[in-house]
Amino acid sequence: MQPEAERNTQQALLRGFMLKCPSCGTGKSIHRYLKVKDRCDHCGLELHHASVDDGPAYFTLMIVVALLFPLLAVIYTQFDPEPLGVAISLMSFATALALWFLPRVKGMFIGLQWANRLYGF
Ligand SMILES: [Zn+2]
Repeated sequence: MQPEAERNTQQALLRGFMLKCPSCGTGKSIHRYLKVKDRCDHCGLELHHASVDDGPAYFTLMIVVALLFPLLAVIYTQFDPEPLGVAISLMSFATALALWFLPRVKGMFIGLQWANRLYGF
């Protein structure tokens, strides 16, 4: 039995963040915002093996909170803002940030699963 070639995890994570196929980096891994493609259009890698469940949502939440809490501290220590204005603007910013990060984190999960040959990859 021939040993399988090692897969580059960092490269797969980066390609996943860019919503690209973890194998070739050219084809798309996700379409219609969060839907995983059945296979890569460029190299034919079967992507339907990906099983990410709620992981990307939890990680996205952690990223957004990690970015917003220091920002909240800076806003209240440096300025004297109106609390309602801060709440509305930060909630809007948090929502936009989460919507931007969620498909990218999901792509990273797919890349991580592919690099570690999980779930049939
Ligand atoms: Zn591909």
